[in-house]
Amino acid sequence: MSDFETFVNQGLVRLEEAHLRRRLRTFQPLPGPRFDTPEGVVVQLSSNDYLGLARHPRVCAAAAEAAATWGAGAGAARLVCGTSPVHEALEQALARFKQAERALTFSSGYATALGVIPAVVGPGDCVVLDRLSHACLVDAARLSGARLRVFRHNDPEDLDRILRWAEGERARGFRKAGTFGGAADQTAGGRVLVVTESVFSMDGDRAPLREIVELKDRHGAWLMVDEAHATGMAGAGRRGVIEELGLEGRVELPMGTLGKALGAAGGFVTGSAALVDFLLNRARTFVFSTAPPAAMAAAAAAAVGVVEGDEGVERVARLKANLAVLHRGLTEAGWALPAPVSPILPLAVGDENAAVRLAAALNDEGFLVPAIRYPTVPRGRARLRVTVSAIHSTDDLVAFQAALKKALFQTGLRPA
Ligand SMILES: *Cc1c(COP(=O)(O)O)cnc(C)c1O
Repeated sequence: MSDFETFVNQGLVRLEEAHLRRRLRTFQPLPGPRFDTPEGVVVQLSSNDYLGLARHPRVCAAAAEAAATWGAGAGAARLVCGTSPVHEALEQALARFKQAERALTFSSGYATALGVIPAVVGPGDCVVLDRLSHACLVDAARLSGARLRVFRHNDPEDLDRILRWAEGERARGFRKAGTFGGAADQTAGGRVLVVTESVFSMDGDRAPLREIVELKDRHGAWLMVDEAHATGMAGAGRRGVIEELGLEGRVELPMGTLGKALGAAGGFVTGSAALVDFLLNRARTFVFSTAPPAAMAAAAAAAVGVVEGDEGVERVARLKANLAVLHRGLTEAGWALPAPVSPILPLAVGDENAAVRLAAALNDEGFLVPAIRYPTVPRGRARLRVTVSAIHSTDDLVAFQAALKKALFQTGLRPA
């Protein structure tokens, strides 16, 4: 066997030994939150399609119509000849929805982070991240070449400590050996960007955004907030946690994804016309990547329309009612969970192998709840990540509670 194949196979063996090897499974969608699998029909409690918009008739029809009109692929990057009226309509819809001057979309939330952070900070600057920030935020910060600092999860005091350090250090430009200058060719350096999520993807808890906004203002830093798991749900206008807390206009870089509650695919930032112009020139994942298909843009625009309207109100109300039922069920099954502040309820298990066994037992009972393991979460903090949506029925959730009790009994595991 060649060197390379040996390397690959040994890597797989190591993953297997650590109970960290993952495999793709193909699911046939059935109506509602159900999939057909080779082992039978399962109810998923694992999707981020929180409002059930991925298969909403209006959203799907918009995608089909745009594909028929504009074709399957956009053919080029947006700046070349990849911008269609559909892309413009989506950005206008997002700007209206988020009550911002403009919006800029990317092919994914991941690509949004990877484009935006290195566009605003670089060597000589500093990025301060919440410890549990999503991989795309961490990767983007690394890619920027800025100095990285991490604050304890949701801990404003620790953030304050780091921002005080940064204020002292910024005059010197956060110099590391051999790195000088600031973002791209804007050379001053010394910028500080705080990065957090409003709702954390794996824990479902919320950042203390009011305190974080105060702190970044006090220390002259900027703030990026990833609303991936809040867009479409939190706040009276369903714009996100920034809206709910009355912080609109106080966050330099609010971002979101179109692939979760909005049921399509893509990512976006909102802000001033100048910010959007700046980013469409500087964000490399925007400049050097083929435009998302018009079908995706049209689907996302239709989803924004649904979320903004009365149906958005109804779907969020159903989601919240389902969340209350599920939370009660999980509490009765033995998990001490705080009052839910998002549709994500993490069931702590701890050991990776135990989490996998519990997920398998639930699968046998007809429920799809994947075990979330390292590297998605820290080692020894494996969990089942349960998510609920507006399209679950009360019966689904009651049946899940029974299945969970049975799975716990069969595996001999107990809530951690
Ligand atoms: C899912 C997720 C992303 C990535 O968005 P995609 O559109 O799936 O690429 C970014 N940030 C957070 C917090 C996420 O959960």
